[in-house]
Amino acid sequence: MKFVTLDIQGFTIADEFVAKELGIYTGTKTAHFIFKPPQEHGYVNYEEINSILTKYLTDVNIVYVKGCQKYNFIVGRFNEIGGGGGGTFPLVLNVELSDCNPPVPNLERKIPICMSHTGRGSQKCSLSNCIDLYDWLIKFIPH
Ligand SMILES: [Zn+2]
Repeated sequence: MKFVTLDIQGFTIADEFVAKELGIYTGTKTAHFIFKPPQEHGYVNYEEINSILTKYLTDVNIVYVKGCQKYNFIVGRFNEIGGGGGGTFPLVLNVELSDCNPPVPNLERKIPICMSHTGRGSQKCSLSNCIDLYDWLIKFIPH
């Protein structure tokens, strides 16, 4: 059973969530992307998000996310990709809907660790969030 944790940071524009930063953690490897417009700073073209998800998640069984908005975003992407490619995508689970003990940590209090957050006063980093989420999950998920 292969699982990863995934975190997205972004903005809601006209009722649509737009990802700005994507972090994926396998327990040993991280993948991290900062997207280009609609915001002006970024490195990866936003249109590439579907191919990034395909590349990094097709051999994964479960993707854990924290929060409905992130869950809906990822499931929406999978539906969009699957409609054209017929690929197999992992199960997406929102840890906030679990009855876990210890409770899900408040990820957003953590210190940012990626370069795009240093010195800019931001407290939310997808990379640190997905690593923190994994470290919490691994305590009680069989692996
Ligand atoms: Zn970051």
